[in-house]
Amino acid sequence: MQIRFATALSADEYVRQQAWKDAALDNCPIHSKDGCGFTRHGTYSRQSPEGTKIARWYCPDGHSTFSLIPDCLSSRLPGSLIDVETAINKVENAPSQEAAVYGFRIDVGLTGVLRWIRRRLFLIHTTLRLLTKLVPAFHDCQPSISSFKATLGVEYALPVLRMSAGAYLYVLPPPIGFGPRPQRKKGKKPPFQHKTGTDPPEKRE
Ligand SMILES: [Zn+2]
Repeated sequence: MQIRFATALSADEYVRQQAWKDAALDNCPIHSKDGCGFTRHGTYSRQSPEGTKIARWYCPDGHSTFSLIPDCLSSRLPGSLIDVETAINKVENAPSQEAAVYGFRIDVGLTGVLRWIRRRLFLIHTTLRLLTKLVPAFHDCQPSISSFKATLGVEYALPVLRMSAGAYLYVLPPPIGFGPRPQRKKGKKPPFQHKTGTDPPEKRE
């Protein structure tokens, strides 16, 4: 289970300060009374940002682990929420989708970049659409980064949404929320379509 670690640190500061050492979870989230054996359970590492660790707890009676995800980091995806927001914002504001992904992740090639961005666009737009229905303050928002940024009056919307989502965190999909990944409806095209057909065929994963 993922639990929010409230912090104003950026992802780089979190790593530099080894802030996972400051993460605290005083009581077992499953059992209200002592005696279940709830205890700190070390850390696990993430590849990005390099050097990232996540603090973890364990309840033997509940057979459950609990990971404290800092507000700066994506849930269930590598990297920071600001990384995700920057990429999606670029796509939303680009003259074409090809232009948006130009220069992204040259290590994985165009097909890999398109897959990378499609996955994030789907997750974030699903999340923003949910928020427009769940939260009265967002009823008039469009499910776009620019619309939420304007409503919130902030430079980066995604970390603020993590910090303010409260109980909705367990409904919202990653990388903001700790809820389940949404499934695409069968037959529905992904929200990101590459318009000119110069890609090599996609490899099966
Ligand atoms: Zn417990």
